[in-house]
Formats: sequence, C-alpha cells, structure tokens
Amino acid sequence: MVLRFPSMADADGRTLGDEELAALGEVIRSGMLSSVWGTAARALEREVAQLYGARHAISCSSGTAALHLSVVAAAPEPGDEIITTPITDFGTVAPILAQNAVPVFADVDAATGALDPDAVAALIGPRTRAIIAVHLFGAPAPVAELRALADERGLVLIEDCAQAWLTRVPDGRLAGTAGSVGTLSLQQWKHITCGDGGLVITDDDRLAKAMRLFADKGWDRAAGRSHETFGLNYRMTELQAAVARAQLAKLPAVVARRRASAEALLAAIDGLPDTVLPRPDGHAWWLFPLVRPRGDAPQLAAHLSAAGIPARAGYLREPLNRAPVWSGPIYGSSAFPLDGAAGPTLPCPRAEELVERTLLVIDWNENYTDEHVALIAKELRSFA
Ligand SMILES: *Cc1c(COP(=O)(O)O)cnc(C)c1O
Repeated sequence: MVLRFPSMADADGRTLGDEELAALGEVIRSGMLSSVWGTAARALEREVAQLYGARHAISCSSGTAALHLSVVAAAPEPGDEIITTPITDFGTVAPILAQNAVPVFADVDAATGALDPDAVAALIGPRTRAIIAVHLFGAPAPVAELRALADERGLVLIEDCAQAWLTRVPDGRLAGTAGSVGTLSLQQWKHITCGDGGLVITDDDRLAKAMRLFADKGWDRAAGRSHETFGLNYRMTELQAAVARAQLAKLPAVVARRRASAEALLAAIDGLPDTVLPRPDGHAWWLFPLVRPRGDAPQLAAHLSAAGIPARAGYLREPLNRAPVWSGPIYGSSAFPLDGAAGPTLPCPRAEELVERTLLVIDWNENYTDEHVALIAKELRSFA
C-alpha cells in the first residue's frame, strides 16, 4: 500500500476546522463583512503586531499586495532599481513593475538559494532604492549582512516572509523585523491560510501610514471623503480575517511540528553522500530543500515521486531572470519601465544551476508522521 502524504491543498494537510467555522459564523451573523467597519481585520493586525513585536501590522488581500505596499513604502522614483533574488514567487517582483521600478536580479548562494550579499553589493548603483530579501522555503536569509549594506548605502530593506512564518534570523529575532518592512502571506499553500491574504509589519509610523493609505485608495477615513495619495483597494475582508485569526492561534504548533519532523529527517539522513542538507537553525520548513552538487536533482525527484513522495526539482521552471515576461510588453505595447534595462535578465549562474540541476524540494507538512519521515529517508538513501 502506498503511504499517503498530507498536502497543503487538502483538508488532511491543513489545520482548518471548528475554530475557523465558528469565527466565520460570528462575522457572517454580524452582517458586516468589510474590514473598514468590522473588527476582525483590526484584531488580526493587533495580534500579528504583538506576535512579531512590531509597532504596526497592516492586513491586505494577498502576499503580493503586501509586497506592493512595501514597495510603495520604499518610494522608488519611476525607473529606479530594486534588487532581489531570481529564486522566488513572482509576487516578489510584480509589485516592483507595478510601481514603475526596475527589478535587478542578484545571484544567490549555491548551497541555500538565498540572496548573496556580495552579489547584491556589486549591483548597487545610483538608481538603487531598495533590496527585497526572501526567506526562501522558510530558511533565514542573511539579513544582518543585507541590513548593514542597506544602511551603508541608504537603501530600504524589505523582507519577504511569505514562506517564513516564525523563521528566526541568527540574532534570535523573527524574520520580518530586521528590515524596514516585513511581508507575510496567507495564501492556500503557506503555513497558515485564509485562501488569500497578506500582512505587512513595520516599526516606522510614516511608512505604516503610507501603506495603510495605499491599501485603501489613498482615503484617510478619519479625514472624510477625500483622497490624499494614489492608492488601490487592497483591503482584507472580515471573512478572510476571521479565518486568519483562528489560523494564527494555531501557527506556533504548526511551525513546531514542522520543525520536529524536519529535524527528525535531518538526523535520519545525516551524512547522505553528494548532498548539501539544509541548516535547521531558525528554519520554519515551508518546504524541505536539498542541494545535489552533482546535478542529479531531476533524477532524484523522479525517484522520490515514484515512491509517492511529493518532491520536485528546481522549484521553478526557470529562475525569474530567465522568465519570458522580460521580453515585454509590460503596459499596452510598451516595455516601460524596463526599456531595455539589463537588471531583469542579468545572468545568475548559481541560481540557474540550482533551478536546472541541483535543487530538490520536498513538500513539507505539520501532519507528517514518523512513517512519512522514515519513507523519505529510506528513498533518499536507496537512491544514493
Ligand atoms: C506566496 C509568495 C508570494 C506571494 O504571495 P501571494 O499571497 O500568493 O500573493 C510572494 N513571495 C513568496 C516568497 C511567496 O512564497
């Protein structure tokens, strides 16, 4: 009999239950589904701010919306550059374009896939406005180095924590609190979910105000029906917030269980030949990544899949510096704001090698048992 793996796309791999139903019922019976007048989204913001020890948390409609708010906070001039990693969800990059700025891809560490601070430093120029670090798969990105770089060069550091709920960076702080703005996602495939949803966290009152205004059409509700700044409608609904609050209460246990099973797998495959294992420190285990320097990740993925293990090579079809979108157009028939800029298609040989040959990701889940871990270890060893 094939062992079934719980999945984030199924009820058996999610923590959705009676608590979410009760919270939803309460909102529906209240008659108020909008977060402008309701209480659930504001309560979610207070709870997330408290959990992260941040002065402000602002809810919005998705992780991509949260990243758009963070780019708004960085306030690039049209045509300014924002440096980020080519191994991430496109939601990290789309908001840069949406603010008419130019994404510049820096290469990554060959062992972790995280942004390489030296590669970032080499790309900082007169038009660079911000750096977006991604805590990839839940592993802490080198934010201390990136923060030092950002401070030295007068840049805004944004942390994309969509895959990194409760990830800890080496100084012990939570990922998302080292930069000027941290962003979170509640999309279906993340640690906790309300289908779609997002949050930004920041300690900066001025940035918080700019982001809150942008998420609500530039409308300062306290000042009457008047529009101070340009903005969109990125509001979270009370329905999303009700589910998200119930999910947030379960988050510590979700991350603790993922950590326990991932560390059990690490122990079981200690010394696996030709493999770079992930470091457990601070990791929140959105996925379990492995690097195979010899370049056999696609073959290993096929071997694991044949045993019913949800594993894939590369994570992306191509790193984002190779994505078809850069051949344009972006708006109408225009390539603005790119207009032939080199930044979006700079070669990133280490990222390309990871995606094409060396990176393997195994879906991870808080409901994996000893049996799931043992099967993964056994199949990894039998391939080796
Ligand atoms: C999921 C994800 C996003 C986008 O979040 P959505 O809620 O899907 O819009 C951005 N960055 C990373 C790293 C992600 O994993």
